[in-house]
Amino acid sequence: MTVDAEQLGEHVPIVLVIDDCEDVHRLLTARLRNEAMELVCEISGEVGLERIHQLQPSLVVLDLEMPGMDGFEVLRRMKDDISTSDIPVVVLSGMQSPNDKVTAFDLGAVDYITKPFDLMELRVRLRAALKMRHLIQMLAQRAQIDGLTGLWNRAHFDERWSEEVKRAERSGSPLSLAVFDLDHFKQVNDTYGHPAGDAVLQGVARLLQQVARQADVACRYGGEEFVVIMPDTPPEQALNLCERVRVALSDTDWPGKPSREVTISAGVAGSNGPTSTGRDEWIEIADKNLYRAKSQGRNRACMTHVGGAGPRLADAG
Ligand code: GH3
Ligand code: MG
Ligand code: MG
Ligand code: MG
Repeated sequence: MTVDAEQLGEHVPIVLVIDDCEDVHRLLTARLRNEAMELVCEISGEVGLERIHQLQPSLVVLDLEMPGMDGFEVLRRMKDDISTSDIPVVVLSGMQSPNDKVTAFDLGAVDYITKPFDLMELRVRLRAALKMRHLIQMLAQRAQIDGLTGLWNRAHFDERWSEEVKRAERSGSPLSLAVFDLDHFKQVNDTYGHPAGDAVLQGVARLLQQVARQADVACRYGGEEFVVIMPDTPPEQALNLCERVRVALSDTDWPGKPSREVTISAGVAGSNGPTSTGRDEWIEIADKNLYRAKSQGRNRACMTHVGGAGPRLADAG
């Protein structure tokens, strides 16, 4: 639902070795036994490439001279494919010419170690490549976190939402989207000041995290607007989540100002099964429901079924 260790890649990294020489497999397996990495070895470029897709390793150690698909071709294919292009590759090769090194780096390798290799050196270079990968992932993730609330930000929402819409379209599983907007929030700021307004935004974020399930994706869409992506969730359940957020928020006593009531409105778009509704259309439908909730008096949630048998309205609050 929010940022967790798994998504940060804080598990034992998988290192995939692709080399046609089994002695190299044995040597690396024995000598890297105590490193914080799980080693997997493959004997050919073709099988290696398949394993890269299947395992999504944190690092690939790649031989260049192999019968069939050579290392250059593996590298080329990895970098041409968006699902594998970010995986760092350390070349481990008997080819010593500067031309081969330049070609490998041009193709996207992060390091080049020549055979015969020194095990200590190999070890520190693999550690360095893994550390670099971890830092890049951390930075990329931090760029998608909202500074005030700690929720995912708009950039992350845009990415995840496209993925989830595609996934639901493929699998035909339910999907729901809820858009939240604080009611008369400008007045909260005007009356109590922006720091108090910020504290309310942080409180709403905490509430969303408490109410959402692990698989839900809670984001700050911008300003005083939030969205929650709910994979595998029918719209009635999504409306229920909105209700719990809405009721909990209006029941909250804000520190120092016990009489102040802060309320929120929500719009839900959701499908029970297969739908070919586009990602933007989903957002428009959820938005329309939000405006409906506002125009009906705020502090409520409105919902529409998308796809399937056509729109059916349902409201709460
Ligand atoms: P409505 O019920 O129609 O949504 O009214 P509203 O006042 O919430 O809507 P409006 O769009 O007029 O105002 C949104 C307010 O949200 C104005 C802006 O100052 C405030 N806001 C946006 N981002 C932040 C923020 O990061 N911190 C604080 N404190 N306020 C913010
Ligand atoms: Mg070889
Ligand atoms: Mg707004
Ligand atoms: Mg508002």
